Amino acid sequence: MQVKPKKYLGQHFLKDRNIASKIVDSLSFHGDYKTLLEIGPGTGILTGILFDKYPDTTWLIDIDGESIEFLREKYPDKAEKIIKGDFLRMDLGDIFKNGIGIIGNFPYNISSQIFFKVLENRDKVSEVVGMVQREVALRIASDPGNKIYGILSVLLGTFYNIEYLFTVSPGVFYPVPKVKSAVIRLKRNGRRDLPCREDVFTKIVKQGFQNRRKTLRNALKILNLPKQISEMKILDLRAEQLSIDDFIELSSKIDVLWKK
Ligand code: SAH
Repeated sequence: MQVKPKKYLGQHFLKDRNIASKIVDSLSFHGDYKTLLEIGPGTGILTGILFDKYPDTTWLIDIDGESIEFLREKYPDKAEKIIKGDFLRMDLGDIFKNGIGIIGNFPYNISSQIFFKVLENRDKVSEVVGMVQREVALRIASDPGNKIYGILSVLLGTFYNIEYLFTVSPGVFYPVPKVKSAVIRLKRNGRRDLPCREDVFTKIVKQGFQNRRKTLRNALKILNLPKQISEMKILDLRAEQLSIDDFIELSSKIDVLWKK
């Protein structure tokens, strides 16, 4: 049987085995987790390598029934680890009791949502090795002071160490995508809880970048910040000029006043 590429599912199948091996070899098992979850195995080029190397600890989830049927036929003894479903709706805690690593050539149309889900499950997800659109990879891995530094760079960088690993050209996929790709690696860092409420932190970061060309004073106006805050010098800056620690410090100051 064959899996026909479906555009609405973001399907671009990798054809190059060397690149597939390079992606799998990028797993560092940081944090000593054992279990792996591959998101979007598709026709299984990564899966074959994963099942060879980690036969008892690899799980798959794909939303495409055709892909799942194909993989269950190819790996009948693994059927119970081959899940048909939407990763974005998957309850990770339900299946995985301990830390996991996530790997995949992700569906590019939902890559940001995948990373937001990783953030929500950060105490379960020790590591991510993922292929995404190159632009997205660059943004996520960007440092402050850069035009492409944004919400995901800050939120993910708060809880993960992020590395841009390598670029992949469009020609190694079928069908050939319009964009370049890249592989990034996220390793859970040592940060546990924030010193402020997390929703406050998220709100400040998101709102700050909403109008990224404005100073924070203007970008955050809509939040009606207390006067002590809006008079602070740091609000002369734009969101992209703040480090992660700056955002945490600012959010904590705001949270203290908001709690009063
Ligand atoms: N890993 C394969 C396929 C990548 S294409 C390869 O490298 O060749 C992306 C895959 O993600 C497709 O198989 C697609 O069906 C799957 N997918 C798309 N949306 C998904 C979702 N919400 N949850 C799980 N898998 C999804």
